[in-house]
Amino acid sequence: MTRAIQITRSIQMTRIIAITGGKGGTGKSTVATSLAFELSKEKRVLLVDADVDCPNDHLLLSIKREHLKTVRQRIPKFNPDRCTKCGACGKVCKTNAIMSIKGKNPIFMPDQCNGCGACKIICPSGAIEWDSKEIGRIYSGKKDNLDFLSGELKTNQPISEFIVNSLNEEIEKRKDGYDYIIIDTAAGTHCPVIAALENADYAFAVTEPTPLGAHDLEIILQLLARMNKKGGIILNRSDIGDKKIIESMAKKHSAGIIFEIPFSKEIIIQYSKGEPVNIPRISSIIK
Ligand code: SF4
Ligand code: SF4
Repeated sequence: MTRAIQITRSIQMTRIIAITGGKGGTGKSTVATSLAFELSKEKRVLLVDADVDCPNDHLLLSIKREHLKTVRQRIPKFNPDRCTKCGACGKVCKTNAIMSIKGKNPIFMPDQCNGCGACKIICPSGAIEWDSKEIGRIYSGKKDNLDFLSGELKTNQPISEFIVNSLNEEIEKRKDGYDYIIIDTAAGTHCPVIAALENADYAFAVTEPTPLGAHDLEIILQLLARMNKKGGIILNRSDIGDKKIIESMAKKHSAGIIFEIPFSKEIIIQYSKGEPVNIPRISSIIK
């Protein structure tokens, strides 16, 4: 039984809604883009693709992205004249970004550095200062009335939540201009997902009626409960597989299945053409 969640709207308030999921491939991005595009026909809507390791909402909506901002992360800069070649920085670096042998200048591999600062703190001779490296970009775009932001982590960079944090700053700057902000998070429960969920008023977990779907749903429901997020479950491809395992998981975690999307050839055709997917009544989940 599908039931909509009542999202209380007060005048002039922006509602931030996250579309998330414990497992990849359940249709999370399809739901996020469809919901955002549908709402944007009547409301001011910003869609944010926060799946920064593998952003693809722009492909689903055929949006040409424009470079908006470069995201940088601090990294150490070594001063060889001050360095006493003690080797302490290499020992303290947990990401193996510094190779240091006592009696030699350290060799630094910037791609592996997460900017923790331990090397600078430990250095006894003040031979380390801060520099920075590009770790990703924020893009903007538009599809008809729908405004769009997308973050993308550069290849080989270790910390994707820095890109999500940068998206959060953009959301904070712009949010008063929108009725709804829809955030498409990455799948899973790792740090970039938590960062993307942080400011959401409501979070909907997209899943599918399979044992793997149920397993990963449990993990995301536990996270949402810990973060105190209201929302519910969106069950994709609800008419194939075993719906009962999702229903029992929902019951176990006192979560509601608020919307069901039956398998549809139409959806697959629109998806493969890069057209906004029309999921009938998808906006009813927040009305
Ligand atoms: S800032 Fe942290 S990760 Fe980067 S080189 Fe120094 S100790 Fe290693
Ligand atoms: S800790 Fe400082 S002095 Fe020691 S090797 Fe590293 S940069 Fe040189």
